[in-house]
Amino acid sequence: MTKQGRKAHCYGPSRPPRPKPNLPEQSRVAFAPGRANSDALPSMPTPQSRVAFAPGRVNLIGEHTDYTGGLAMPIAIQLGTTAAFEPELSSSRLELSSDQQATTGYLDLQFIAKSTTDLPAIRPGWIRYAAGVARQLWVQKRLEPVGGRIRISSTLPQGAGLSSSAALELSIGIALGFEGEPVELALACQRAEQLATGVPCGVMDQLASATGVAGCALMMDCARLSIDPVPIPDGIEIAVIHSGQTRKLSSSAYALRRAECEQAQNVIGPLSRPGITESDLSDLTDPVLKRRARHVVTENRRVAELAQALKSGDLALAGRIMLASHKSLAQDFEVSTPVLDAMVEKAMAIPGTLGARLTGAGFGGCIVVIAMSGSLDNSSFPGKFFAVQPSQGARLLS
Ligand code: ADP
Ligand code: MG
Repeated sequence: MTKQGRKAHCYGPSRPPRPKPNLPEQSRVAFAPGRANSDALPSMPTPQSRVAFAPGRVNLIGEHTDYTGGLAMPIAIQLGTTAAFEPELSSSRLELSSDQQATTGYLDLQFIAKSTTDLPAIRPGWIRYAAGVARQLWVQKRLEPVGGRIRISSTLPQGAGLSSSAALELSIGIALGFEGEPVELALACQRAEQLATGVPCGVMDQLASATGVAGCALMMDCARLSIDPVPIPDGIEIAVIHSGQTRKLSSSAYALRRAECEQAQNVIGPLSRPGITESDLSDLTDPVLKRRARHVVTENRRVAELAQALKSGDLALAGRIMLASHKSLAQDFEVSTPVLDAMVEKAMAIPGTLGARLTGAGFGGCIVVIAMSGSLDNSSFPGKFFAVQPSQGARLLS
């Protein structure tokens, strides 16, 4: 077993074995023109075009637990983002276009690789994510910067809580030549998002997109960065319903919630430590901090309980646990909205629905619903309904 709790794979393209050069360390960067030791290679291939796909994710349970090292249980979904990279050796910049954005953007290779200037200044805003990924790969992972064009296409809605930003980052990372463990890519892309947005986001989105397993939810320990796939029982369907409220994470209270959790931890210690219970919250005199902490402590427990309920096929219990999570997010963590609350209520009124809750950071975005197969369709939520299937994680397509 690897650190991820299952066999990890690498993103390297399958290619014929190269003659082994006599180098001290064979880098993972297989296509790196101009490297200091390139003379030692018998023949150095030119940078290759690559097409990579990274899925979005829906979190079944475990919301606002990742940044205290807690538990979450997302699924990677069939909707996602494709990045097609066409290298151009003579170019000193990357041109980026997206079928979801009107403006093409340009990144100067020297600027990204050398400057320490903040990325949030880059325009248009959406290419900051690419800039963050490129900086992580070229500076931290020491890949050789290569210019060219990246074309992005996506089936994910943006800003809806389905992690279009993580899908964008991971697809670009693989298209630019990342080769290594999924967890390593997830951490690089998490850092990229933090650099791009200034939001201190946790690792759950990137890790879910990197490690998705078809047919399974991903029981994720965000401290150990381990993944335990939990099969979704037959006879269940999962849907995501968009509230129509597009949340702006950076302008939301996300950073405030994170700070509140840190303040609570300063008083009572790590909120996601094993064995913590509600009785450990008694030293929190501030009622707001106490509610925030109670959400995290009870949510971690619910993640473990939902995994058990799914494994034992107790679908009614699974639904009740999801509803309890929504209530905790609404009342203790205060990240729901009246629209999301009404949607959960409406979804629960549909015969066959087992459970529903807001998914993602909240303040708008989506709800996730589990129901007996055949119960849900577009009719109750026209134009806002996505049936999702637990799907494979990010990968190189060609
Ligand atoms: P979420 O990840 O839940 O969709 P975020 O606010 O974290 O919401 O990320 C959305 C932002 O990510 C968009 O505003 C845009 O800047 C960027 N983004 C995501 N997907 C794409 C895409 N396919 N093309 C261009 N930019 C994208
Ligand atoms: Mg995001």
